Amino acid sequence: MATYYNENTVLWLDGKIQKASETKTDLYGQSLHYGYSVFEGIRSYRTAAGKTKIFKATEHFDRLQRSAAALNMPYRYTSAELIAATYDVLARNGLQDAYIRPVVYGPANMSFNPNTESFTVIETWEMAPFLGEKLLRVMTSSFQRPNPKGFKIEAKAAGHYVNSILASQEAKAKGFDEALLTDINGCIAEGPGANMFFEKDGHLYTPAAGNILPGITRATVMELCAGLDIPFEEGHYSPADLKQADSAFFCGTAAEVIGWNSVDDYTFPMPWKETQGRKIQLAYSDLVKEKTPQPAWN
Ligand code: PMP
Repeated sequence: MATYYNENTVLWLDGKIQKASETKTDLYGQSLHYGYSVFEGIRSYRTAAGKTKIFKATEHFDRLQRSAAALNMPYRYTSAELIAATYDVLARNGLQDAYIRPVVYGPANMSFNPNTESFTVIETWEMAPFLGEKLLRVMTSSFQRPNPKGFKIEAKAAGHYVNSILASQEAKAKGFDEALLTDINGCIAEGPGANMFFEKDGHLYTPAAGNILPGITRATVMELCAGLDIPFEEGHYSPADLKQADSAFFCGTAAEVIGWNSVDDYTFPMPWKETQGRKIQLAYSDLVKEKTPQPAWN
């Protein structure tokens, strides 16, 4: 198991900086029992200039607020307040290349009634720069993404991740690197913790919103496509469509942009270095580290 904190690590809990090892949570909490909490996955990077930069901080904390609202959870901070708190926690923990995990969770409550208060914690841990160029062997999962009529699918809610864990564990048990889940109609949807694009004849295609968590990295890829003159479209695609593609990749805050070798027994024919995905991977890496002149939207 990874180590997320040691005896010196601090976190932020509702305005207080405190030691991770001394912070307690309630074992009668509604969030623990029912998966009823919302969270974010955010990255900070050491930039080319040596500064610490949280990538798309406002987008992530705004999504946290929308997720809390979607689940009827009280929420009492502005994104600006939580961003300032996060920079403080990063500095106190001596972190630049880090993963940032805010969680909004409920108090002790064994009923299904709404709460009058929530707790908000911000945890950080080191994320070493990712050097791997290994391409992923992906398996079409036997699990579908949750029914959007059964969940607020665009919210980043903890309970949705049982579905992600089941799919990821199934794929790894079968010797693959990661899963690709379909939606309730059998169209390709997303990975357990990342969105996906595939390439055919120079165009990129990605599953439309509605059955997926439409990620902040996915939106960034679309912005990069505009700058790189790469045509893309959103739509509903079958596993058979994917198995005629030239290449494919996952994108997400933690995964960044990572190419695929294969899906099931279909190996993508185009060498990764020649793909649109590779161009986007390089542009993304430059963007998060502020290595190139920044486009106006950043
Ligand atoms: N889909 C799922 C299910 C995820 O958990 C994530 C990671 N948050 C993503 C997509 C990618 O989202 P983002 O680019 O905002 O990290």
